[in-house]
Amino acid sequence: MRTGRIRMGAGGDRGLWAVMIALLLAVLVPTACVLWFMTAAMRNERLAVRQRLSDLYRQRALDARSSLEAHWSQKTAALDADPDLSPARRFAKLIRGEVAHSVIVYDETGEVAYPASPRPAPDRRSETPEWSEARGLEHGQGRADEAAELYAKIAERAEDVDSRALALRAQARCLARSGRKEQALQILTGPLAEESMSGAMDADGRLLAPNALLYALELLVENPDLRFRPNEALVRDLNEHYATVGELADGGGRRDFLALVAHLIGRANDYDDSQMSSDQRRFLMRSLREIGGGRSLGLTTLRGEELAEEYLEAPDQSPEAMRLTRARSAGMWHVSSRDGRTVAVFSEEELLDEMISATGIGEPFAGATFRLVPPGADGGSADAFLAAPVGGVLGGWQLQVRIVGENPFAAAGKRQRTVYLWTGALVILVAGLLSVTAAAYVRRQIKLTRLKNDLIATVSHELKTPLASMRVLVDTLREGRCKDEGQAQEYFELIARENLRLSRLIDNFLTFSRMERNKRTFEFVQLRPGEIVRGAVDSARERFARPGCRLDVDISDDLPPVIGDRDALITVLLNLLDNAYKYSGDSKLVTVRACEAGGDVCFEVTDNGIGMSRRAARKVFARFYRVDQSLSRGTEGCGLGLSIVKFIVDAHGGSVRVTTRPDEGSTFTVRLPAHRPSPARSQKGGSPRP
Ligand code: ADP
Repeated sequence: MRTGRIRMGAGGDRGLWAVMIALLLAVLVPTACVLWFMTAAMRNERLAVRQRLSDLYRQRALDARSSLEAHWSQKTAALDADPDLSPARRFAKLIRGEVAHSVIVYDETGEVAYPASPRPAPDRRSETPEWSEARGLEHGQGRADEAAELYAKIAERAEDVDSRALALRAQARCLARSGRKEQALQILTGPLAEESMSGAMDADGRLLAPNALLYALELLVENPDLRFRPNEALVRDLNEHYATVGELADGGGRRDFLALVAHLIGRANDYDDSQMSSDQRRFLMRSLREIGGGRSLGLTTLRGEELAEEYLEAPDQSPEAMRLTRARSAGMWHVSSRDGRTVAVFSEEELLDEMISATGIGEPFAGATFRLVPPGADGGSADAFLAAPVGGVLGGWQLQVRIVGENPFAAAGKRQRTVYLWTGALVILVAGLLSVTAAAYVRRQIKLTRLKNDLIATVSHELKTPLASMRVLVDTLREGRCKDEGQAQEYFELIARENLRLSRLIDNFLTFSRMERNKRTFEFVQLRPGEIVRGAVDSARERFARPGCRLDVDISDDLPPVIGDRDALITVLLNLLDNAYKYSGDSKLVTVRACEAGGDVCFEVTDNGIGMSRRAARKVFARFYRVDQSLSRGTEGCGLGLSIVKFIVDAHGGSVRVTTRPDEGSTFTVRLPAHRPSPARSQKGGSPRP
């Protein structure tokens, strides 16, 4: 069995396919382009991010390099500054000014001027017989008491400060040894601490006064009960240096003890005192640090003194002028001033820290860290993202940039990729939606065009047939070619039937046309179901008044009314009756029934005709659909009748369905909602549906 619409437009289908393919391409091509663009854009973005970050890192490295070079030119300029300063003062100034961790000052002959060992002087003083005797008593015979008295006499008679100081210190020593520690203390902090004694030296070139006070301090530390009254100079020093010794005061330090410490701090820090050798200064500072329990006590140059001592232990140091190089001493760097008279010494560890804080490159920057790599160090420059050589004093040093943690290029690329992906997805989605909308629109347009074509073809075909037969009949009658009156009458009836068919056809077309343009208006009134059935049956009865045709009518009693358009509902039943007639064989048995079911009023038209397949039954209500069967092909019709039925029934809020079997007949059932007016309203009669 072949089914299909009337004049199915093969060309229209091809057109539809072409449009669909074009629309598909309209989505696929931009999608491919967008994907390609996204890939290219992401690649470019990665490169751009890399470039941007590289520029950023390079700029940062250049800035760091400039600050480093500026920092170092300042330092080296300071090395050359104040050429008239004494070596000791230059040493202290450069260290306190944080120009260097330590400094070696050379004289014009290239000898170390500071920190230098003292120059021993011949010990003329202890060559006298009294000195020999006293030493004999003290060391040889262990008679410290007597030795102390003898030393006191020597001191009294001494003509120079050195001898007097030496004798007083020896006296104090002997007094302490013989248990008279308080007397010893009085000498150490009394006559020995007088200003006149401040320059007195021993044979090794060491200042005696500071050592004597240090000795006094040791006595005080060992014997906390000892007391002494600090002289004016000591009190003055205490006031001056209280800030530095204050912390010892918190630890329970006594005023006399603190005065001694303060005085000694003052002396150790006094680089104007050219008499104190660096050895003695270092010893004094270390002793004070020890007494202070490791506290720095404002001895800011001690670290420099120690570093210089260590530095000078390594022979053949050869610092380059204005260029920081590795020293022979391990972990040290040095640079010489332009004139070679001052050498700045640095400890490597502190040096790197200092340079990093001077340049501000300590913190990670945009996913990278900066490292300052000295010449000769295994900096792993192969792993570095970027390496910038530093010039000037730091010639040979390198600033390296290393990527840390998650690759910043990838991270930035990822962000951008997400943006691109979303944008791409949005573009594709929009293109897809537009295409689907366009496809729907085009489909509708093609459908409308096809409908129009079908309509024109059907109209011309359906109008032509009755018109042609009417023309033949009219010609025959006009030319008087009828055999008799009976034949003429038969021809008139034929003409009337064709005319009726034509009118119904035109009615259907008009209804369809209005339906299509949504122009069909209904006049809703309250109707009795029997009235509708009888209206339709009256119109169709004449058709069934033939031999072998039977039209039964069965209207249940007391049916509720329905609200509807009288003519439209009659058209519904007429179309169904027309089909029942058309699609039944020679012996036609058609029944029209009106009954009530489930609160609805049902109109049923049953025939014993050709019936339909289930598939065809599903489509019969579509416009222009005709089951292409030998019988239905032979009947007139254009596939609009049932679609008009459905349209009218739908407009009345009802439903229509068909139960059918091929060769057994069909039953079309129209259900309309029954109208049960409220008592108040029913008195007024039926009212149209809103
Ligand atoms: P038309 O009758 O003008 O072709 P319709 O819309 O009224 O158009 O009917 C559509 C098709 O449904 C018909 O062509 C016919 O094949 C089938 N059809 C309708 N009514 C019946 C029926 N009572 N019995 C069998 N087939 C029917």
